[in-house]
Amino acid sequence: MMRVLFTHSYFLRFDPKQWKQQQPYPPLATLYAAAALREQGYDVALFDTMFAQGPEALVSKMESWNPDVLVVYDDGFNFLTKMCLTNMREAAFNMCSKARSKGCRVVVCSSDATDRYDLYLDHGAEFIVTGEGEITLGELMHQLKEGKELPETIDGLIFRRDGVTVKNRKREVLRDLDSLAMPAWDLVDIKEYKKRWMKSSGYFSLNISTTRGCPFHCNWCAKPIYGNRYHAHSPQHVVAELKLLTGTLGADHIWMTDDIFGLKPGWVGEFADLVNTEKLKFRFKIQSRVDLLLQENTVDALARAGCETAWVGAESGSQKILDAMDKGTKVEQIYEATRQLKKHGIRPAFFLQFGYPGETREDIDATLDMVTELMPDDIGVSVSYPLPGTKFYDRVADQLRENGKTNWTDSDELAVLFQSTFPAPFYKELQRYLHKHFRMKQGLDAWKRLTQAPAHVRGSDLKRIAAISYHLPGMFLHGRRMKTLGKSKRTSTELHRDGTL
Ligand code: SF4
Repeated sequence: MMRVLFTHSYFLRFDPKQWKQQQPYPPLATLYAAAALREQGYDVALFDTMFAQGPEALVSKMESWNPDVLVVYDDGFNFLTKMCLTNMREAAFNMCSKARSKGCRVVVCSSDATDRYDLYLDHGAEFIVTGEGEITLGELMHQLKEGKELPETIDGLIFRRDGVTVKNRKREVLRDLDSLAMPAWDLVDIKEYKKRWMKSSGYFSLNISTTRGCPFHCNWCAKPIYGNRYHAHSPQHVVAELKLLTGTLGADHIWMTDDIFGLKPGWVGEFADLVNTEKLKFRFKIQSRVDLLLQENTVDALARAGCETAWVGAESGSQKILDAMDKGTKVEQIYEATRQLKKHGIRPAFFLQFGYPGETREDIDATLDMVTELMPDDIGVSVSYPLPGTKFYDRVADQLRENGKTNWTDSDELAVLFQSTFPAPFYKELQRYLHKHFRMKQGLDAWKRLTQAPAHVRGSDLKRIAAISYHLPGMFLHGRRMKTLGKSKRTSTELHRDGTL
């Protein structure tokens, strides 16, 4: 039987911020692909890089397990792999060349390899599976097993023939997601994940995907794996998987990894009914859009199902910037969705983005004001990051080539890679300032609750109050640095010349 060793290129310890947080999620997409091959009769195993020391650790796994094929299959459901971080890219290259030197066939499927396939082919990969990989991988393995290699007949594959890169037709996305085998959870060391979550957070969260793709067109958002089509598992299928995660695997919290949770009309309501019929008890977080949350009875259904946190791509408090991003949402919708979520006992959380071309100090202030007014439960602050395949990337591609840097090394780098309104260090200070300011305000709000309604104070409130003195000096420090750096603004003539405005 052909032996296929799966791995992925995300090493938690190569991403200092995430390593510190210790909230790791197993590589879900990798587990889907492994399950799909196992169902077809292949012998599969997993070398999970999440807690590994480095790519060298792969060698002992290869020596003990002796695979015919190594498949580096990244978790396309996790935003960390969508960032195409160079620390992980280097690790992937290293694993590819180690496997080749042992005579193993090497296949890669990831966002980064889809964008930079030639780099991966240069570093030991023989085949790049682009986009959603289960079917493509199955067809490729069949050919390798039979010894009849006609890779040009397989959609969604890139390879080299006589030194020339051959790019096959795109693979159609899967419509019937329920036809996929359940992810191969048995391949993961669940105890290790649980141990780390319990130590860092006091609960255990696992990940599930209920949909693939997103039909919206925010012009900076790269979707190289699941694309612009949107397909969903049935609520029945999701509930069956949830029973496994919250039962056998012991999760008490779930991250719904979907770009957009519950877009199909009626889906969330049906899901909530099933969760209640089955008496499933778990907390979960989702990602959605403010306009969608305001449709039908979505927020009400989310609350009925037990949703704890809804992350929304708020991005900016300036309508001008939302429009420039082709976000398709209104600032007022951010306000209204936040009110609705809070009213139903769901914690709103905002993804925010600074530095988008054309953003002025007034736009930044509008975002800061919005956060202060609405006070979501949490914020995730980033800077605009041009990834291949987006309109935004095409717009600044010349500047990226000039600067010679196109990707972040790790998820906390947050460097502005193009000519933005303010110098790159300004945005780093802005991000730190906003975090400190936000935590300070949370502490002060909790203090107010303590004095006005002590019976409603939660344990987290006490922690927030205690953290005020910790965040205060940082807020002033980063605020001052931001102000100084903000003085060296680029003029509108310069921005026009760069093509940024
Ligand atoms: S809605 Fe979210 S996932 Fe969809 S295009 Fe916009 S940012 Fe991307």
